[in-house]
Amino acid sequence: MTGLRYWQVVAVGLGLPGLFCSCRQSPPDIATSPPSIVRAAPASLNGLAVIEQVRRFLEVGPRDAGTPGAGRAAGYLLGELQRLGIRAEIDEFKEVTPAGRKVFRNVIGRIGRSGGKIIVLGSHYDTKSGIGAKFQGANDSGSSTGLLLELAAVLKTVPPQETEIMFAFFDGEECNVSYSRNDGLHGSRRLAQMLVESGASGNVAGVIVLDMVGDRDLTICIPHNSTPGLCSAVFAAAHEEGVRSKFSQSRSEVLDDHVPFFNAGMPALDIIDFSYGSAPELNDYWHTEADTIDKLSAKSLEEVGRVTIRLLNNLLENKKGVAR
Ligand SMILES: [Zn+2]
Repeated sequence: MTGLRYWQVVAVGLGLPGLFCSCRQSPPDIATSPPSIVRAAPASLNGLAVIEQVRRFLEVGPRDAGTPGAGRAAGYLLGELQRLGIRAEIDEFKEVTPAGRKVFRNVIGRIGRSGGKIIVLGSHYDTKSGIGAKFQGANDSGSSTGLLLELAAVLKTVPPQETEIMFAFFDGEECNVSYSRNDGLHGSRRLAQMLVESGASGNVAGVIVLDMVGDRDLTICIPHNSTPGLCSAVFAAAHEEGVRSKFSQSRSEVLDDHVPFFNAGMPALDIIDFSYGSAPELNDYWHTEADTIDKLSAKSLEEVGRVTIRLLNNLLENKKGVAR
């Protein structure tokens, strides 16, 4: 870990009453004063720390779903969450795919208070199969996986008292042949189904999926099939972070890990930069051996990470919730 990460918190609501007073006033009534709510400051997310997370994760090697590499990646993510003191587990399941029956593993970490409102932060961690022996998948899916690990490290220092934040590392996002009911989105479909079947989906205040967020030329394009209230919220957060020009709304739909939640009626958002190449619109790094860590930018990762923390804080303060 670098020495550059610094922990900073913001006090929301009452702030720090009495800290600078002359002490002539009577002390606040502790029993009746609402407590100060402390949230993680967006500025405590450092891009160099995220790049380091990505670099270490990529050392695990190729992680195509159903291979021993994917199992090693799941074990690595579990270990990292546990090292942070986050309660975490691997949800292992089997599904039939066009390439035969495969084992998938979602890695789930939780902080905050369970039993009430839930906010899911998600990223897939598997790589697309069949690209080539040198395929790293640095941006797809290393960037969002490393960012989610660093978000977990930052948010763990100030877990919300009233909400559960779920860090969901999805397996099997990539399809073998083409996206269908049994090809691709395996991990996210599994978690969405579990939330519905347990009755918890009604408590989900937002599912925020991160994917391909490390490109130097950051152009986040929120797909049309995202919940409008969350789209407005992410644009407001990007504005507050001074990076609104790097976020736009697409007229197109994207099949990504937010879709199973969105289709099940949960508010869901996909933060994705789908333009990843040597020139704008070329996309020649995507799903090729050119998707290497030297193409990634600490600044982009930091900007997306800070917007995500601000969005999360705003959702935590929003008592009414986002319209579904
Ligand atoms: Zn991909």
